[in-house]
Formats: sequence, C-alpha cells, structure tokens
Amino acid sequence: MIRIAIQSKGRLNEDSIRLLSEAGMKIEESRRKLLTPAEGFPLEVLYLRDDDIPQAVADGVADIGIVGLNEVEERDRDVEIVRRLGFGKCRLSLAIPKEEDYQGPGWFEGKKIATSYPGIVGRYFREKGIKANIETIAGSVEIAPSVGMADAIFDIVSSGGTLVSNGLKEVEKVLFSEAVLIGNRSLTEEKRGLLSQMTFRFEAVERSRGMKYMLMNLPSDKADEAVRILPGMKSPTILPLAQEGWCSLHAAVREDELWTKIGQLKGIGAEDILVLSLEKTIW
Ligand code: ATP
Ligand code: MG
Repeated sequence: MIRIAIQSKGRLNEDSIRLLSEAGMKIEESRRKLLTPAEGFPLEVLYLRDDDIPQAVADGVADIGIVGLNEVEERDRDVEIVRRLGFGKCRLSLAIPKEEDYQGPGWFEGKKIATSYPGIVGRYFREKGIKANIETIAGSVEIAPSVGMADAIFDIVSSGGTLVSNGLKEVEKVLFSEAVLIGNRSLTEEKRGLLSQMTFRFEAVERSRGMKYMLMNLPSDKADEAVRILPGMKSPTILPLAQEGWCSLHAAVREDELWTKIGQLKGIGAEDILVLSLEKTIW
C-alpha cells in the first residue's frame, strides 16, 4: 500500500484526481474522507491543504504527493521531485507599479515587497545581493502597492490579467511552476515498486495528451510521401486494401499539427480520413 497526498480543494484537486483516474486508480468522490482508499491499485489518498503537502511527504505521513513546485520550493523540505506533471502551470514573478522606470533588479534595493512566498523571493534577492524588505501577507497580495502597504509584489502570475487590473507590470519571472509528483526520500522497497508502476502509468497518460490517431486510404504509390508527412511513433502502419493500387495508413499525430497534416495528406490523394482519440500510449 502507498499513500498519496493531494490538495483537498483548490486548483490542483480536480486535475490530480483526473490523473489518478486516467491511470486506473479511481477514487469514489461520494465516500470522500480525509483518507480514502483508491480502487484498482494499492493506493490510499490523503486530502490536505497544498501548504502542508511537502512537509507531510518529507515526514513520511504520506509517501508521495502532488503539489505545485512553488510550494515545494517555498517550504524547502527534503523531498524528491519524481516528475513534472504538466498541469497547474504558473510563474512566480516580481511586479511593480506600471509607471515606474525599471532598469533591472537593482530597482528593488531598499524597497518593500509584499508576498506569500517569502522563502523563494528571499533566496532570489540573496543570490543577487539585493537588500529588500519582505513583507509576508497571506492573500490579496496584488492590492498591496495601491493601498500603500508595499512598493512591489512577488506573486503567482498565470495570464497577467490581475496585475494589469491592479496597475502593475511584471518585471522579473523568478520561478516557472507546475504540479509535480514528490516522494519521501526513504521509501521501502515495496513502495518504490508501487511508485515506479504509478509513474509508468502517468507517462502513458501524458504521452497520449494532445495526440490523435489517424486512419486513411491512400494510393499505394503515395505511401512514401505520406510517411514523410507522418513520421508516427516508429513509422506509420501501412496495410494493403482489397482494391488494387490502394493502401490504408495508420499513424499517431500531434493534435496541434492535425489540420496541417490533413491538408498535406489530402494534397497527395488521401481519402476517407478518420481521426480517433488516443487514450493511453505505451512505448
Ligand atoms: P489550499 O487551500 O490547498 O492551501 P491555495 O489557496 O493555497 O489552496 P490554490 O489557489 O488552490 O492554492 O492553488 C494551488 C496551486 O495551483 C498553486 O500553488 C500553484 O501551484 C497552482 N496554480 C496554477 N495557476 C495558478 C493561478 N493562476 N493562481 C494560483 N495558483 C495557481
Ligand atoms: Mg495553500
């Protein structure tokens, strides 16, 4: 049995549960308690505030956890970062009032910075040799400069819209964050084995994200050209059709390239193109 800590509610909760479920570990939402067993894998799920996940994993209260890299860096606990998970992307940035003239990090010397991430920004200023006053506040960091609580802020940015609506501009991007899978450093042999089965499944799920599977009919003499358009995983699969001079071609394609590839394939005579969704990709 392995125990995973995930965020009980908030931005990472749904994507964490979805990832587990796509990897064959279902959690029954209706039976949701602080600690719930998953179905389909010897796993139990511990629901925590994201702030507490790095410590829970470092102390072995949970064996592994899903949390933002920003929280891992801020709490500075000794945990292993097993892999990045590709969701919950954001960045931690310094922002100042938009009318200020900014030439570089020296601007922050002697200034007061409001943040909920004193650890990360403190390390950043120490590395740059800048002395700034860091004011730790729990929320609504972005309004601090306009109410005179601080000269600048250090906060999470995703689109930047909140900064603009508070008259601020982003001047330094300090940390790029996303959800990560973290692990306790001294897992038993049995738990290591379970963790590696889980990461294998996560990889298969991640590989299929943004991928589609295409099938089409094609004049056989165009197969070489089609292979150049669709490199596929190793190479596309080509099967002869009952009708002389035609073949059927199958390949995995990145979704963002799908329409370009379809255009090119139609251009060389492909017909009856089918596009299917890909659920898991095992290599
Ligand atoms: P908790 O109640 O668990 O302490 P929280 O309020 O601290 O939750 P959330 O706002 O749910 O945290 O955000 C969780 C994580 O989601 C953040 O630490 C960050 O890693 C990630 N995240 C991604 N995009 C954003 C965003 N635009 N704003 C805030 N967090 C984001
Ligand atoms: Mg939190």
